[in-house]
Parts: sequence; structure tokens; C-alpha cells
Amino acid sequence: MRDDENLTDERPTFVTHLECSATGVRYPADELHNLSRERKPLIVRYDLDGVKKALSKEALARRPSDLWRYRELLPVRRARDIVSLGEPVTPLLALPRLAKGLHAGEILVKDESRLPTGSFKARGIALAVSMAKALGVAHMAMPTNGNAGAALSAYASRAGIKTTVFCPADTPEVNVREIALQGARVYRVNGLIDDCGKIVAEGAAKAGWFDTSTLKEPYRIEGKKTMGLELAEQLGWQLPDVILYPTGGGTGLIGMWKAFAELEAIGFIGAKRPRMVAVQAAGCAPIVRAYEAGEEHAPRWEDAHTVAAGIRVPQAIGDFLILRAVRESGGFAIAVKDEAITAAVDEVARAEGLLLCPEGAATYAALKQGLADGRIGRDARAVLFNCATGLKYPLPPSDRTLDRSRPINFAAL
Ligand SMILES: *Cc1c(COP(=O)(O)O)cnc(C)c1O
Repeated sequence: MRDDENLTDERPTFVTHLECSATGVRYPADELHNLSRERKPLIVRYDLDGVKKALSKEALARRPSDLWRYRELLPVRRARDIVSLGEPVTPLLALPRLAKGLHAGEILVKDESRLPTGSFKARGIALAVSMAKALGVAHMAMPTNGNAGAALSAYASRAGIKTTVFCPADTPEVNVREIALQGARVYRVNGLIDDCGKIVAEGAAKAGWFDTSTLKEPYRIEGKKTMGLELAEQLGWQLPDVILYPTGGGTGLIGMWKAFAELEAIGFIGAKRPRMVAVQAAGCAPIVRAYEAGEEHAPRWEDAHTVAAGIRVPQAIGDFLILRAVRESGGFAIAVKDEAITAAVDEVARAEGLLLCPEGAATYAALKQGLADGRIGRDARAVLFNCATGLKYPLPPSDRTLDRSRPINFAAL
């Protein structure tokens, strides 16, 4: 049980409306929405003056150490609609040995692997499912590379909502089985995630499913936004110099950028922002290509391939929002090769005892590249995101054996 005033069901909430991210046109809160009429993501807006009066840093400091501590900046109006599997504030771990070796300032890893279902998708999905419950959704559907589908399956089962999930045929077995075991109907599709997305859109039109795709659903951003809120609070309301974010659909990057604006509006931080660095895999880097070409949109990347499945997103509907945040922050977009990603998993595990997922390791590889080419300063405090547990991914073989019936040469072990 939670031990604070959250238990009273009716509590002040501050959502005023939703807003089209392209035109600024307003849409009413408390109704079910997907994209705006212009087919662009909808953004949740709050009465931030109201939040400023209602919330102090001191009151916040006394609350339980979980995602719901930021409730004034979250969209769920009634506590009874919250669908939770226990979403802890994730630790921020320093990598001092690697920082020293690289002559880098400070390297911090926000370790998201500890969230329910083993990835940061839990943040967005906890909010999406809570809002779906509040708004009476009976059947949710989603395309996934694995982690989002696992989170949706788990949270929707907990809420008693039916779920149908589509994933690329080469999605790792462990992800598909995890999704199935937690209650969703899951189908392997002979295509990539955007092909799966088209099936969901058609099912939404023909079978009445609620489309929970990245950014086609307004509340996943609000859940991912809590990464930015936590980061600010954990660092004593001083944002880091650089954030390296493994970018697929970009929900987290867009969400954190929104979080910082809201924190400034309620007087918790000043105008200083981190440089936002969008990290992609060289085999699927539409945002990097658009960034380098000075474009506002990122056309589809053909023949996408990478070991970092979570960022194998050939086309992102929020491309312009990712690129805008990266540019406004003075950051950049960078691609890293699969060999660098695999080497980074190995390096960080051996040196610091932290088993990163490939997407998280991509941010470490990108940091090294940025330090080497001078785009990241040697005195910078950099935050990397380890977005999922490394245990969900194929691990390199280990085949040493020992015959206990023979004499053991301990000196050689
Ligand atoms: C989804 C996912 C990403 C990309 O996150 P976005 O916010 O959608 O860009 C990165 N890594 C992992 C492990 C993921 O599951």
C-alpha cells in the first residue's frame, strides 16, 4: 500500500487539454485520442501555474520513491485508475573507471533495467494503460520490437484489458514468449515495425482496437517524461551537460525535453538545458541522416538492420520533434556501428559490472566517439541511458568445463 495522500481518490490534477504538436490546435482532455486531424502526435498540456502553487521540492522529497511521485505532472485524474507493477525511481550509476580511462568528465548511467518487464517501456505503458482504463478502453493493440509489447501485455493484463501485439518475424524468442505468457495475443509478421504498425492501424479501423503505437497515443510521452523529472531531482535540480539517448521512436527524448520545460515553468530549474544527443545504429539511422542534411523530417530508412532491436525504427512519426529538441539543445545525432555496440557491452560489463542492453551500450559507444571527435568536451557530465536489462538479449557463449573426477590444477584456474 502507498502511504501518502495518494490514497484519497479525488485529488487535484492539472491537465487542461491536449495540443497538436504541429499546429497547436487544442483537443479536449478526458476523451480518447490518437493523432490530431493533421495526423501528428498530440501533446498533453497542464496548468503549470497551478502545479507551481501545489507542489514544492520539499513535499516531493517526502513521497515514495516511484514514478507516481510526480503526479501533478501526470495525466491520471483518479488514483483508482492507476495501473502499477511498482515503478521505482531508477538509480543513476557512475562509471568512474571508464571515465578515468577515457579522460572524460563524469559518466552516469540511468539504469532503467530495473523497471517492470525489464525495460523503460514500462514508464510509458503504465501511463497509457492507466489512461486507457480511465477512458474505458477494452482492447489495445500495438506494433513492437519486443519491449513495448512485453510492457503492454503485462500492464493490460493487470488492468483486465485485452491486448493484441504484432512484432517483426525476427524478434528474439524470449520477447515473443514473454509477451504471450503475460496474456497478449502476439503475432510474428514478415516485415519491420512500421509494417506491423500498418496492421494495427487497420485493426483499429476495422475491429475497434485502441492503437497504442509510439506517439499515436498521447500518454506514453508523459510516462517517459518521468525520466527527465527523476534525473533533475536526482542531480539536485541541476541538469547534466549532455544526455545520450538511444533513439527509436524518440518518445524518451521528446518526453525529457518536455519535462525540462515544465520544470522550468514551475520554478524547479533554470534555463540551462543539457545537449540532447540522439544515438542510432549505423544500420538504421534515419534521424542522423536528416540531422546531417539539415532536414525537418526523416524519410524511411530502407533495409534497416542492427543488433540493437529497440532502435530498429525505420521511420518515426515524431521525427520533427526529435530533430527540434536535438537542435534547440545544441546537441547532435550520431550513428554507431554494431561492432562498436557489441564491444561496448563487453567493455562496460568487465570494467564496471554493469550488463547493458545493446541500445544502452550504443550510448556508451557514442560517448566515446563524441569524446574522440571533440563534439563532447572532456569536462562534461554525461548521462547515458541503459533502457533495458541485458539479460533479455543473446549473450556470448561461455564453454569452459571442469572434470571433478580428475585432479584440479587450482593455480591454472
Ligand atoms: C524502445 C526502446 C528504445 C527506443 O526508445 P524510444 O523512446 O522509443 O526512442 C531504446 N532501447 C530499448 C531497449 C527500447 O526498448
